[in-house]
Amino acid sequence: MFDASTVARLRAETPGCAYVTHLNNAGAALPPTAVTEAVIGHLRLEERIGGYEAAAAAAERIDHTYDALARLVNADRNEIACVENATRAWDMAFYALRWQPGDRILTCRSEYASNAIAYLQTARRHGVSVEAVPDDASGQIDVDALRAMIDERVKLIAITHVPTQGGLVNPAAAVGKAAREAGVLYLLDACQSVGQLPVDVAEIGCDLLSATGRKFLRGPRGTGFLYCSSRVLEDLEPPFLDLHAATWTGPDTYEIRGDARRFETWETNYAGKIGLGTAVDYALGLGLDAIGARAAALGETLRAALAERPGVTVRDLGARRCGIVSFTVEGVDGAEVARHLAAHKVNVSVSVGDYAQWDLRARGLASVVRASAHYYNTEDEIALLAASLPAPRAGRTDRAGWGG
Ligand SMILES: *Cc1c(COP(=O)(O)O)cnc(C)c1O
Repeated sequence: MFDASTVARLRAETPGCAYVTHLNNAGAALPPTAVTEAVIGHLRLEERIGGYEAAAAAAERIDHTYDALARLVNADRNEIACVENATRAWDMAFYALRWQPGDRILTCRSEYASNAIAYLQTARRHGVSVEAVPDDASGQIDVDALRAMIDERVKLIAITHVPTQGGLVNPAAAVGKAAREAGVLYLLDACQSVGQLPVDVAEIGCDLLSATGRKFLRGPRGTGFLYCSSRVLEDLEPPFLDLHAATWTGPDTYEIRGDARRFETWETNYAGKIGLGTAVDYALGLGLDAIGARAAALGETLRAALAERPGVTVRDLGARRCGIVSFTVEGVDGAEVARHLAAHKVNVSVSVGDYAQWDLRARGLASVVRASAHYYNTEDEIALLAASLPAPRAGRTDRAGWGG
């Protein structure tokens, strides 16, 4: 874990800390100066010498992003594709699958909304079934129930490691063990875990993993990546191909690339890619074990502070929890709580039930406030959040009609 002087240094390297109490790292974390400088530096180079020429001049730094990402998740650099966000990374993998009527997809109740919508579209188009595995008593995915549901028709197990709407950390490696034993493809949405805690694709046993740059990695917006294991690469034909993903080998023939960059497009934001590599280096320099320990400890501190406030209920599920904390204030809808905190320069966000039909809606929650701590946050900032909450009002929030 980081001592006080290290935290002070990390905050000094994060200009935003001087302006806001940023507890919205699950939305977009404050970038360190190094990341912003790397992005701006490349834009300046493009301005001076031209975009193609700047890409050639910065080829080594651009290329380094693949090595950095591979090291971050313990993969090979040929298994990494850089794309513009986590949703596109996930989509490129998911929509590469070929479906037969009757195929089954097993997922989790805390699944991300965009993924759920993609399952439902695929169910409608191809006659496959989508089943959310029940939670266990702690609220994480029930791995025994998952094992019992697996049969020869299950074509994909796809879950979210850390959901967007709460502090739960799903047992991704236990799910991976079940998937491996059954020989079923395993796609992990690691958008909220990458950069926040150690994520090792070998230990987890996933075939595919998607993540974003701007959240706990502290990278630029509009960046993300896909890990595609070399075990499954050749079986996955991307839903879109261009002249970067494939080569036009003859008048009637083409050949798809042999590495994960088959999921990329030719045109890309090079400044963002360099910034992403810089953010990964920064995280690796600090160490993901230390980062994960501090984020989880701050999450616990925040839950304890909230639990002392009258009318406040912490809504996090799971046996293992991280730096994301979800809560409600009795009689006050989530958006109003967030506005109240914003007036005190405390940044949080709101997760609405519509974005989590199988989770928040099923639990009767119209919305929850989401406060998400990262390693550069402090105990004082958490105390400020707790002290800045609006007073509870009589009446219940649980099923209140905040529909937004
Ligand atoms: C934010 C989020 C995504 C989407 O990431 P984008 O980079 O916005 O596409 C996917 N899954 C989870 C769990 C998320 O929290």
